[in-house]
Amino acid sequence: MPLWTCEQCGAQFPESAEPPPVCLICEDERQYVNWKGQTWLTREELTKTHKLVWRDDLGIAGIGVEPGFAIGQRALLVPEADGCVMWDCVPLATHDAIEYVRSLGGLKAIAVSHPHYYGAVADWSEAFGGVPVYLHGDDRAFVTRQHAAIVPWTGDSHRLSDDIVLVRTGGHFAGGTLLHWGAGAEGRGALLTGDVAMVAMDRRSLSFMYSFPNYIPLNASAVRRIWAAVEPLAFERIYGAWWGRNIADDAKAAFEMSVRRYIAAISE
Ligand SMILES: [Zn+2]
Ligand SMILES: [Zn+2]
Repeated sequence: MPLWTCEQCGAQFPESAEPPPVCLICEDERQYVNWKGQTWLTREELTKTHKLVWRDDLGIAGIGVEPGFAIGQRALLVPEADGCVMWDCVPLATHDAIEYVRSLGGLKAIAVSHPHYYGAVADWSEAFGGVPVYLHGDDRAFVTRQHAAIVPWTGDSHRLSDDIVLVRTGGHFAGGTLLHWGAGAEGRGALLTGDVAMVAMDRRSLSFMYSFPNYIPLNASAVRRIWAAVEPLAFERIYGAWWGRNIADDAKAAFEMSVRRYIAAISE
């Protein structure tokens, strides 16, 4: 029986003879149902129509889907001596891309910022012997394909190694998470934010939304909570969710300025 992928958000669903009746990610007010109506691809169909590509993105290897598919995020491979941590995920795992990740030392873990980027985490975990998949437990209702490798971590932070810690900020999703990589940006520190803190098009500032496609902002207290979680971290660089959507330098000052600007913009 096939596995099913939602064409609009890229979430993978369990094996079944028929596609699921609805996509719970797209039915949620933070996303939207395809204008054609709910549409699905089997994993085999998706593998025929799309491929994975990889390249360097400001010093970290990334993996994305071509041609563009669903939300269009790229995964990042944070390298450590005992294997990479995959940050965020793509809707597909292909043989060639798995071999590429093997050439970088393989995967030791997967961590995802929020449900829009869960993608094919189960396929990627299985390709590397069932490595753990860290998804914040507060978003467990949005896991579309349950899997034994999923670790529903709780609380406000979870350390993966000496240099890597997951930090829950909430906001866009209750379990919204950032990854802090102390060794990133040549040791000056990097923050990988998905779209929990969205790198804006000027690549010098960020925004914070409950729903990006439906333009539903967060309130001031939610944004203050995000900043309270980020302020203790040392970092100079931010990696957003798409190719090139990064803040190369001075990113902590940019974060603080963006929080102030955002709160001023939504205040009376
Ligand atoms: Zn969907
Ligand atoms: Zn999102």
